[in-house]
Amino acid sequence: MAHDPNCIFCLIVNGKADAHKVYEDEHTLVFMDIFPVSDGHTLLIPKDHCQDLFEASPDALASLMATSKCVATALRAVVEPEGLMVFQLNGAAAGQTVFHYHMHLLPRWVDQELALHTRVLGDPARLAELAEQISTALD
Ligand code: AMP
Ligand code: ZN
Repeated sequence: MAHDPNCIFCLIVNGKADAHKVYEDEHTLVFMDIFPVSDGHTLLIPKDHCQDLFEASPDALASLMATSKCVATALRAVVEPEGLMVFQLNGAAAGQTVFHYHMHLLPRWVDQELALHTRVLGDPARLAELAEQISTALD
């Protein structure tokens, strides 16, 4: 399995950096975004390091996509958003800031301003609570 020692998401996969983990299986890891744009902002990554859509293997993508539906359903049950945005950025010009493929699940509400990023750290207690609740809703 490919691992980049300079990649923060690889460090999370290997347990060398902390994350509020929601779910993992052989191929995919799911955790809370540490700078949530909205309550419940969740990321899915392949465990095998790849930079973006163009480097990702079809098998890793297929597995992650199937998992995303389960996580989205659990996330919706927990935070009850009015909508759910799914996005994935490729290259700095597209706004990608972490160069390990990831899919964003972003709960949305009608009156909320549309944004892809924020610099405001999430409340660790809330992130932990959400990770636990989404994880439980997956069962
Ligand atoms: P992107 O701009 O699509 O590359 O998104 C990268 C996302 O990763 C941003 O939403 C960041 O808030 C998030 N992020 C960066 N570092 C961490 C981390 N250590 N744990 C959780 N999320 C992170
Ligand atoms: Zn990586």
